[in-house]
Amino acid sequence: MLRAAIVALGAGILAAAAAAGENGRGPERGSERRRMVEDIERQSLSIGNGRDFAQLDARVLDAMRTVPRHAFVPASASPLAYADRPLDIGSGQTISQPLVVALMTHLLQVRPGDRVLEIGTGSGYQAAVLSLLAGQVYSVEILPELAAKAAETLSRLGYANVKVRAGDGYHGWAEHAPYDRIIVTAAPEHVPPALLAQLKPHGRLVIPVGASIDAVAPGVEPQDLMLIEKAGDGTATSSRIIPVRFLPLTRDRPRQ
Ligand code: SAH
Repeated sequence: MLRAAIVALGAGILAAAAAAGENGRGPERGSERRRMVEDIERQSLSIGNGRDFAQLDARVLDAMRTVPRHAFVPASASPLAYADRPLDIGSGQTISQPLVVALMTHLLQVRPGDRVLEIGTGSGYQAAVLSLLAGQVYSVEILPELAAKAAETLSRLGYANVKVRAGDGYHGWAEHAPYDRIIVTAAPEHVPPALLAQLKPHGRLVIPVGASIDAVAPGVEPQDLMLIEKAGDGTATSSRIIPVRFLPLTRDRPRQ
């Protein structure tokens, strides 16, 4: 199983698999991951309802069968690591539910060698999934303690092609721009202009956009998951995919 995944996903995974084996995290709980992915496939078939994401990209599903999600959540949440639900990761933040990770990654259509920017590192789990599909992943997290923890987890597990920075991702990460793909895992009220500017022609940006969850009743999905595609001439078109509920994209307070 793991061997097949290594062949399918290429050399990037080798370091990750080796490191995961060393500390016993990778091969563990493989059957739970397989069940999680079966569950994701069932759900995407039903919510996709004839649309492109009814059948999720096999490379994305392979990556999710490989990344040890339990290694990205606090010990207290470990028993639930493979349940299809968001989980607390500390500092008031959550790791997205696996179905949402799968759907967003599918929509992104990451190609081998791509340079990918993620806004909202959180636990580092989504970054790890992306790192198996992309050439290089850059991820920005506004809370320094989460950025440090995610960077530590990713490096311990051998995800060597991910760089994490603490900062306000509203401004993207100009130093490494432009990006082939950009994914945002916290919800702003509008698409941050810097992210569009840092996206290459023919690039794709997947982002939840809408009101803050504080503004709506529990259970209401106040944002739309948007796919923004930049054409060769730089013009962008956007499509609404499904209603979603993400924590807000917060902003750095001006320094006093
Ligand atoms: N992708 C993450 C889950 C993200 S939860 C994972 O796989 O675990 C959303 C994250 O976005 C939180 O960690 C939150 O602190 C972060 N965030 C919110 N506003 C941000 C901003 N302006 N820039 C960067 N990160 C931000």
